[in-house]
Amino acid sequence: MILTADYHTHTKYSDGRDSVLHNALRAKELGLREIAITEHGFSHVVLGLKRKKADKYFADIENARKETGMNILVGIESNILGREGTCDLTERDYEKFDLYLAGVHILVHYESSHDRKNGFKGFFKYNFHAKPPERLVKEQTLGYIHAIERNPIDVLTHINYQCFCDSVEVAKCCADYGTYIEISGKKPHFSDEELFKIAETGVRFIVNSDAHSPKRIGDVKIAMEQIQRVNIPLDRVDNIDGRLPKFRFKEYKERNL
Ligand SMILES: [Zn+2]
Ligand SMILES: [Zn+2]
Repeated sequence: MILTADYHTHTKYSDGRDSVLHNALRAKELGLREIAITEHGFSHVVLGLKRKKADKYFADIENARKETGMNILVGIESNILGREGTCDLTERDYEKFDLYLAGVHILVHYESSHDRKNGFKGFFKYNFHAKPPERLVKEQTLGYIHAIERNPIDVLTHINYQCFCDSVEVAKCCADYGTYIEISGKKPHFSDEELFKIAETGVRFIVNSDAHSPKRIGDVKIAMEQIQRVNIPLDRVDNIDGRLPKFRFKEYKERNL
């Protein structure tokens, strides 16, 4: 298994440690065909890409393209803000971005105080290994599903990390809409049994590093190990062995903008 592209990396524009250029140089050194820079979405209270810095972000990516000759996608790891599936990358931003990741994070501007409560409850239950209440699972599942239905999301990042959902229901929706499920090289977020059931829905996968420094770019070792353990056919993973994914957001933009 050889990684073709890494679609989840951060720089100093959110909580990463280094620059766009250094991420791109590392990707080039590794022989990747593409890399995406995917900062946290605008509504993250602490870590998000700042709107007033967005133009500099786009310019930095353009300069790094010129300097390295790499194909660098302007990405975002948008935040899912509650049960309605509202995301913080909105229509007015679409033109400037190439890749639309989305995930659940805490410390964001939630849709409502109830969703804020759910966000924190999920975070604490997860980190204290406590069983989540059924209603929380139901509502966070709904948040994911509405997000996929209502936004042209390319990849859901680290599902069920610090939150809870019925991942098989979410995977079915991803399969229907052409949204990829990420298997993260940074942190295990599915049990093997869970990943097996997810794969049975027919959904397609992307493996990503979620690198916050250049040295972790392309590091998808734990994801690959799990894929082998669970026996997922490699042709279900669309960014390895010379293949590049077919992204939904790009198609959406071609049709609508
Ligand atoms: Zn994340
Ligand atoms: Zn991330």
